[in-house]
Amino acid sequence: MEIVKDLVSSSKYDIKCPYSMTPKFIVIHNTANDAPAKNEISYMKSNNNEVSFHFAVDDVEARQGLPLDRNGWHAGDGGNGQGNRYGIAIEICYSKSGGDKFTKAEKNAAKLAAQLMHERGWDISHLKKHQDFSNKYCPHRTLDLGWDRFKKMVQTELNTLNGSTEKPSDTGTSTSYYKKFNSTSIVDGLKSIGVDSSFSNREKIAKANGISNYSGSASQNEKLLELARNGKLKKAGSTSTSGSSNASTSYYKKYTGKSGSIVDALKAIGVDSSYDYRKTIAKKNGINNYSGTASQNEKLLSLLKQGKLKKA
Ligand SMILES: [Zn+2]
Repeated sequence: MEIVKDLVSSSKYDIKCPYSMTPKFIVIHNTANDAPAKNEISYMKSNNNEVSFHFAVDDVEARQGLPLDRNGWHAGDGGNGQGNRYGIAIEICYSKSGGDKFTKAEKNAAKLAAQLMHERGWDISHLKKHQDFSNKYCPHRTLDLGWDRFKKMVQTELNTLNGSTEKPSDTGTSTSYYKKFNSTSIVDGLKSIGVDSSFSNREKIAKANGISNYSGSASQNEKLLELARNGKLKKAGSTSTSGSSNASTSYYKKYTGKSGSIVDALKAIGVDSSYDYRKTIAKKNGINNYSGTASQNEKLLSLLKQGKLKKA
């Protein structure tokens, strides 16, 4: 499911998303309206109400209005409420009248939710509804039709995604990965799967994963954690650790610009940046289920910035 980023201006962060956030779950809503995602997001962005949500999904697209590392105001549980402070809010469009557009929107929302959960290594217990946090009967139409039914839709999508990345790599490489783990600390995470978490071993692991100047910085650890969450943390020693490993793999030219967009960065180094080609590049770099999500694009961009994006 392709995500169209249509983010609120940072000048409105104090109204729309004042707190930084490490999400813990998804919160599902219905818009109780008959407008497409584009309109829902543009209205949310343009007004000055303390009402905001991360995604609006309709029959054709998922549109993102808030960054995923900032909170939204959607759960009705106040300034310190769990829903508002830890939930990624997904609004399902066209719920007022229902019908075919709503059916498709709900299906797309199930896909988006599964995708976000898969990226974070979350199971179905991380799928919540607005009603769990306040007394509002929301997502109204999804509840009318059956919450367990919707949960099953998400679970089915999640199974597909989990299955598709657990398949052995078809590139014939011998790279092996550490067992998936989900932790906020790389040290604790490695310990939890029984791996040496000393600095020197982390340095080796970092090197196997394309970080040659590991110093234990927050952003380096965060990158290792993200790979671990996706089951993509390469084992130390599983690939050549010297700089001469470039012999058999070739990489795109390092991108040194400032753009936050993989499309623009690829263009800047003269590489085809179409969706189809990005999908091919993603696959070459271990992302088998590329759908253009923000986190997938960030991963590709991060590799490109390090000169570690493998050529498709
Ligand atoms: Zn709601």
